[in-house]
Amino acid sequence: MKTVNHWIGGKPVEGASGEYGPVYNPATGAQDTRVAFASVAEVDAAVSAAQEAFASWGTVSLAKRTAILYKYRELLDAHRDEIAALITAEHGKVHSDALGEVARGLEIVELACSIAEKLKGELSTQVSTGVDVASIRQPLGVVAGITPFNFPAMVPMWMFPVAIACGNTFVLKPSEKDPSASWRLAELAAEAGLPDGVLNVVNGNKVAVDRLLEHPDIAAVSFVGSTPIARYIQAKAIEHGKRVQALGGAKNHMLVLPDADLDFAADNAINAAYGSAGERCMAVSVVVAVGDTGDELVKKIADRAARLRIGPGDDPASEMGPLITKEHRDKVASYVHGAAAQGAEVVVDGTGYAVEGHENGFFIGVSLLDKVPTTADAYRDEIFGPVLCVVRAETYDEAIELINSSKWGNGTAIFTRDGGAARRFQLEVEAGMVGINVPIPVPVGYHSFGGWKDSLFGDQHIYGNDGVQFYTRGKVITTRWPAPSEEVGINLGFPKNH
Ligand code: NAD
Repeated sequence: MKTVNHWIGGKPVEGASGEYGPVYNPATGAQDTRVAFASVAEVDAAVSAAQEAFASWGTVSLAKRTAILYKYRELLDAHRDEIAALITAEHGKVHSDALGEVARGLEIVELACSIAEKLKGELSTQVSTGVDVASIRQPLGVVAGITPFNFPAMVPMWMFPVAIACGNTFVLKPSEKDPSASWRLAELAAEAGLPDGVLNVVNGNKVAVDRLLEHPDIAAVSFVGSTPIARYIQAKAIEHGKRVQALGGAKNHMLVLPDADLDFAADNAINAAYGSAGERCMAVSVVVAVGDTGDELVKKIADRAARLRIGPGDDPASEMGPLITKEHRDKVASYVHGAAAQGAEVVVDGTGYAVEGHENGFFIGVSLLDKVPTTADAYRDEIFGPVLCVVRAETYDEAIELINSSKWGNGTAIFTRDGGAARRFQLEVEAGMVGINVPIPVPVGYHSFGGWKDSLFGDQHIYGNDGVQFYTRGKVITTRWPAPSEEVGINLGFPKNH
């Protein structure tokens, strides 16, 4: 059985706690791998390595940092397939989807390659007679990242490339459910020439997370995961005096107006609801059908759902893979089983789906629930599986009120041919990322990613300019070089500019 250990100080470090967690291949249900769970002492060792590395990395020239990041970009590019295969083996998503995740992570490495441009300071000359003012941004020190299972490569890459490009050193605690991709990312960074200790990976569970949150030498924490844990992370990190951004869960609504092209909308609903088996924080999980679009749209979605090919992620014919664990698969199924009793119409029931030759895999088919009451659990909870709810609304106003009453505000989308309605929507909707005829509006690397309300705890979004702000702190330098003969004399008044 393969063991995934830690990566500390530029090399593999075997787990010393004696505790391990299981890592499954979701397509077969077999446990092929175990992952070491770090003790407090092991987390401390990673933080020490990062602290030691910061002493020099924080002052390494931008030219040298950038050169390493370019090399890293090239290595990642050359290893796309291998990283995607690691993702598929432990997460279950299909290979093409895993490749997409690697590509979106690479975008952030590319952003990090342009860090010199992002870190350019500001200079104002002659703000007062003979006085100049410069604003610069400096790294924080050792920062930590805690990441979810659903994007084991991309989400860590939302964090550490920007953090280390800014001059910080990093300790990553990946999801214990699919840790191999993150570990490989760290190994490739070392191959690219990243000095030892700049990027460390400690695997583990709550013990490791809590130690990172409490550790006095961690300056900031980036978290991506479910809402309850995000809320916990923010509170605990603040209690321990840390800067924190904690991205949480979601229930993303896609509003379809009567003038929309319904085939286009149905294709997009299918892709966004069932891609990666619905295990995406930007998945569309609710379609809000406005006016008389509902019946036709539901029929079009159901027709397409029946044709989806579900199977192991390493089979090029599969369009959707299994869920992450058996427990999660059963929980997802329970929402479908309970939906009718709570007032929904079960149009497609994907529970009980089995893939021939993979009967022990964590597979489930896709489900479509129509006329779902907003009181039903399937509407109220983040299911995080291939279950699409359709809710009917009479008017645009009713639809937007519904969306804005959600406790989450990650992504949302409108499908329409009416520019005026789309403009109203983009201004009125309470969500951090909005798509107009785009169902999964994940921002490109040079714009930042983040939700509102229970989808993000903290002030700054992740990557893009917000990422650079998050991983640096400002310093403002006011300078005067007096001429040899210049005298100010004694003046106890508050300095005035003149
Ligand atoms: P999770 O919250 O269970 O786990 C995330 C991380 O927190 C993991 O590293 C895990 O080990 C750790 N963790 C779990 N329980 C903990 C506890 N009690 N104390 C301390 N640490 C703990 O999330 P997940 O199931 O891995 O990922 C799916 C969730 O992540 C979904 O809710 C999804 O919407 C969300 N997500 C959000 C975004 C976003 O950008 N907003 C992106 C991806 C995933």
